[in-house]
Amino acid sequence: TFDVSPPFLNRVLQGQPKVHLTAVDDLSLEIPKGKTFSLVGESGCGKSTVARLVVGLYRPSAGSVEIEGLDLATLNSRKAMAPVRRRLQMIFQDPFASLNPRWRVGNIIAEPIRFHRLVSGEKAILERVADLLTLVGLSPEDSIKFPHEFSGGQRQRISIARALASEPEFLICDEPTSALDVSVQAQILNLMKKLQREFNLTYLFISHDLAVVYHISDDIGVMYLGRLVEWGPAREVFAQPRHPYTRMLLDAIPDLEMSGRARTPIAGEVPSPITPPGGCHFHPRCPFANDRCRSEAPKPLRVGTGEVRCHGVEEGRLPASLRPEGGR
Ligand code: SF4
Ligand code: MG
Repeated sequence: TFDVSPPFLNRVLQGQPKVHLTAVDDLSLEIPKGKTFSLVGESGCGKSTVARLVVGLYRPSAGSVEIEGLDLATLNSRKAMAPVRRRLQMIFQDPFASLNPRWRVGNIIAEPIRFHRLVSGEKAILERVADLLTLVGLSPEDSIKFPHEFSGGQRQRISIARALASEPEFLICDEPTSALDVSVQAQILNLMKKLQREFNLTYLFISHDLAVVYHISDDIGVMYLGRLVEWGPAREVFAQPRHPYTRMLLDAIPDLEMSGRARTPIAGEVPSPITPPGGCHFHPRCPFANDRCRSEAPKPLRVGTGEVRCHGVEEGRLPASLRPEGGR
């Protein structure tokens, strides 16, 4: 398993010294090998910070990030970090920004193979590159081209091939399909599922879009201003969302096959994470907020096989469905 262990109070320095932002607060994730955990929430909720903490791009100011019992904080040099980084790869939203425009695709994919000395001999490296290109649905001949010669979806395939080149176990995918057309999104998600099955990969999948993560997730965690407000098996979270924020996100999905409901836009905006509202961070946007919600932060409450942080759920005073016609 891959643990991001509690207590997880992270203060990320934002811009000017002395302005601290608690980007991620008391978050604990455990992702079984070969499974997908998705973190969902609007932008500014702290999802990408989690991704960067896990790959060691950010360091937590308190708490720890452990990968199979190994605390990343004990790895304080690039050299010590290298074997861990090989096992953890990240896929970003914008593949163009993460692919060196002056390098040929073959070189981009060969680089991690050379760096980690996974294959020796130039001929064997070229063969490995050709295999990786084929694996992601491109052709070996593509290795002599440059990133700009490809479409957005093809570039994401190149990023995936590069990530796989270091033979990772764990992929952190930060909005990997958000910049792509819906039809291309589906192709990339299908490819990722296929690769997961083939190589027993573990995914931490980050998205603002619940509809995107539904098909790929085993578990879903909904984040709001640095806190996980609800998590559980994907099917359960979709069929029976408990937290008002999860319901709001679900109601905003335009055309989910299981609903067919009209889209309800998300009301209000995410407040500044530098001065989050007290108590339950969600209270200014929540139709069920009471005095307790405004003053006391809800603790995780076990419900079904998941958890939810909401006084309203704990007090049993939320309606079964937010929508008057019911149906969920
Ligand atoms: Fe709404 Fe209160 Fe639950 Fe927060 S704790 S989501 S304000 S009911
Ligand atoms: Mg982000």
